[in-house]
Amino acid sequence: MRLYNSLTKRVEEFIPIEEGRVSMYTCGPTVYHFAHIGNLRSYICEDVLEKLLRFSGLDVKRVMNITDVGHLSSDADTGEDKMLKGAKREHKTVMEIARYYTDAFFSDCAKLNIKTPDVVEPATNCIPEFIHMIEGLLEKGYAYKAGENIYFDTSRLKEYYVFGNQNEDELMVGVRDDVTEDTNKRNKNDFVLWFTKSKFEDQALKWESPWGVGYPGWHIECSCISMKHLGEKLDLHCGGIDNMFPHHTNEIAQSESFIGHKWCNYWFHVHHLNDETGKMSKSKGEFLTVSLLEKKGYAPLVYRLFVLQSHYRKPLTFSFETLDQTAATYKKLKSRIASVADEGNVDEAALKEWHDKFVQEVGDDCNTAMGLTLLYDVLKSELNGATKRRIIEDYDRVLSLDLLKEDEEEAVDDELRAYVEARIEERAEAKKAKDFARADAIRDELASKGIMIKDTREGVVWSRA
Ligand SMILES: [Zn+2]
Repeated sequence: MRLYNSLTKRVEEFIPIEEGRVSMYTCGPTVYHFAHIGNLRSYICEDVLEKLLRFSGLDVKRVMNITDVGHLSSDADTGEDKMLKGAKREHKTVMEIARYYTDAFFSDCAKLNIKTPDVVEPATNCIPEFIHMIEGLLEKGYAYKAGENIYFDTSRLKEYYVFGNQNEDELMVGVRDDVTEDTNKRNKNDFVLWFTKSKFEDQALKWESPWGVGYPGWHIECSCISMKHLGEKLDLHCGGIDNMFPHHTNEIAQSESFIGHKWCNYWFHVHHLNDETGKMSKSKGEFLTVSLLEKKGYAPLVYRLFVLQSHYRKPLTFSFETLDQTAATYKKLKSRIASVADEGNVDEAALKEWHDKFVQEVGDDCNTAMGLTLLYDVLKSELNGATKRRIIEDYDRVLSLDLLKEDEEEAVDDELRAYVEARIEERAEAKKAKDFARADAIRDELASKGIMIKDTREGVVWSRA
């Protein structure tokens, strides 16, 4: 496997610390609202990456947090607490909001065939771990208390901008007109590890700590949850590209200061989903969710295919026109696969050869579009039907597009067809027996179900009204 590493800005051979085993961490959702399809693009690509690692023979342990406390409106720690904002909006408690949107997130993931990580940990489960790490950072002189909050001191680091490329625009992320500068900070990029005092006195969730009753900052949770389950050395950390700064930069700062050595070897970042006007977000334009796509008649897996058609390191532009094209492609692809008869003996050597080809091609920096190309190559090949179907089944372990699953709509159609044909047969019998009343009753019965029948010279034809 080869992967682009945001730390080195190169595509590198992926070599896990422990042979054959991968520790993988994913930044999870802040559960204050539905996930928009831009967020879900990251989760789809990370899902493919995890499955690809497994597909290539590695054992993966993947951990994800659920942010149910501490994430303020801006990714730097200013503005209103997101969870509190959600609770106020819906007149619910923060925990009710967290539960509701956590369930909604996993329901969206299920629809998109995104596997649930091995460990999913809500931040509110790990308060003692956060306190432990913050105490360590204070002891080592990497943190300070000011204005009754605990801050990380970025000036203590040799290198803070580990991902580089932070231009002034990016550094201004989160700085908006309606948020005031935190005057407790010694340096512009210092960030809060523990709040005991924020602008929002009604913060719902608070815990005892050595520094007073309060709550953790956002960044500390990923470092702690990752170390809790995956130890002090991590192979792979994933997230959306907008997490690179400040979130991942801060995660590295505090983790490595705490443990005193390098923490994570590979950083995988998925680029933005844009709409035609620019980056898609919750606050702008139509709020695109999986449910909205469904309401508009798109199967969620059409969106998954849409994402797989492009490379995760390129911005992707969403429009309903392109989604329509993808829906047509998906339908065609599935019917083409459905037409492959399960005939002949499976050619095991070919199965292995095509498996290895997939590892080679798609494993070159998660090239999902190449995976789709290979799928068409299989369909075009001279292999027998049974072998084709087995290879497609194999590829679908990574692509997860339900390629061999019969469409529900078609299944219903089969059932409907059987029913209509039985009635037509019955009507023909009735006519033969000159029981015209019975024949008309059958016609009416079908009509009441929206089925129109017509006697033609070629026999009876039927259609849905
Ligand atoms: Zn994170």
